[in-house]
Amino acid sequence: MLKADWVVVGAGLTGSVLAERLASQTGASVVVVERRRHIAGNAYDRYDESGLLVHEYGPHIFHTNSPEVWNYLSQFTDWRPYEHRVLASVEGRLAPLPFNLNSLATLWPPRAAARLESRLCRQFGLGARVSVLRLLEHPDGEIRRFGQYVYENVFENYTRKQWGLSPLELDPSVVSRVPVLISRDDRYFQDAYQAMPRHGYTAMVGRMLATPGIRLLLGADFRDLLEECRGIPWIFTGALDELLQARYGALPYRSLRFRFETLQADFAQPVAQVNYPGSGEYTRITEFKHLTGQRAACTTLASEFPAEHLPGTTEPFYPVPREANRTLHRKYAEAAAELYPQAFFAGRLADYKYYNMDQAVARALALFASIASGRRKAA
Ligand code: FAD
Ligand code: UDP
Repeated sequence: MLKADWVVVGAGLTGSVLAERLASQTGASVVVVERRRHIAGNAYDRYDESGLLVHEYGPHIFHTNSPEVWNYLSQFTDWRPYEHRVLASVEGRLAPLPFNLNSLATLWPPRAAARLESRLCRQFGLGARVSVLRLLEHPDGEIRRFGQYVYENVFENYTRKQWGLSPLELDPSVVSRVPVLISRDDRYFQDAYQAMPRHGYTAMVGRMLATPGIRLLLGADFRDLLEECRGIPWIFTGALDELLQARYGALPYRSLRFRFETLQADFAQPVAQVNYPGSGEYTRITEFKHLTGQRAACTTLASEFPAEHLPGTTEPFYPVPREANRTLHRKYAEAAAELYPQAFFAGRLADYKYYNMDQAVARALALFASIASGRRKAA
């Protein structure tokens, strides 16, 4: 039998925040069970053979509007100021993303760009953030045609590659993550706080898990330990269909394959991320030195190839936001709550929500507050 006041399943951000809070704020002993051989979940970063800090599971850029999340994480890391910039390769040229007035000026003939710019500013106001889906339905024909251009050149094919679905088959919230900006702000995010943990995410999470009272079991699948946890409350941050042996069928997740490459060059791209919404199998290429500020004679890049998720073989990186999947998830959540009344469920996988890191942290802090205040079930 395991001996602990709490078991937390998953050493990603959600599980690590909860373990840290339970141990530091309530003095509980906590066992963290993680089936991978490392901590930090999908935010895991590591030094590669060339000594460059790379993100094993794709680029992770921290951004939030929440002072609470920012202040909480700042206990475990110093920050490197960093504002993410992304370019999209469109018709052989590189244009800023989110698509904005500079992108328009890069890709359109000058007079047409200037005319459309005034029209967009008149319609939406300088500084507006507009979903491409809204542009597609706009009453003004010229704005609609512009929407169609952005849709076809930036969103349609990228989304088909990324999800195996058209943008119209997904929740509108997915493509609205990257709005069209009626401005010349070339930053990918506009949040109040934007930075990278100075020594990386693994180091930051490592400091959380170093809290006295926490014991870490790496390379251990919770499903093999269920019996040993009898009588102990637990928090599960994995996928619910896995926990319940896919009794209602697989909950769809999307996966990725990464190709890492180190070049003998100072830099290979002008910015950290270049997106490829055109043909070709990969969606984007990340150059890590831009994110970390490391200096070296070589540079490492990672290309991302979206892939079907095969449970047991690939990692479930993305929930697939669609109504039918949410309904199936609700069914799993209800069954899990009934079968395991001593358990709590949270995180990008268990909640089946397309959380950014700050949202995962906020969710974990809210669940902890709810547990600490004695309410059994989470917000
Ligand atoms: P996870 O990180 O998935 O952690 C869950 C952990 O539980 C995993 O380590 C898993 O191995 C473990 N686990 C599951 N089942 C079991 C089991 N049965 N037994 C034991 N352990 C188990 N967010 C941003 O804010 N900015 C970004 O730029 C960004 N980029 C991203 C890029 C990619 C490619 C991806 C996939 C995500 C990105 N995110 C980004 C989102 C970010 O990764 C998540 O918000 C965050 O990592 C969620 O943390 P989590 O702990 O909920 O989930
Ligand atoms: N997207 C797109 N083209 C791009 C960038 C994004 O079509 O060049 C769409 C795509 O559907 C993607 C979604 O917008 O999955 C969200 O993009 P984001 O950059 O937030 O994706 P993430 O970093 O979470 O993979």
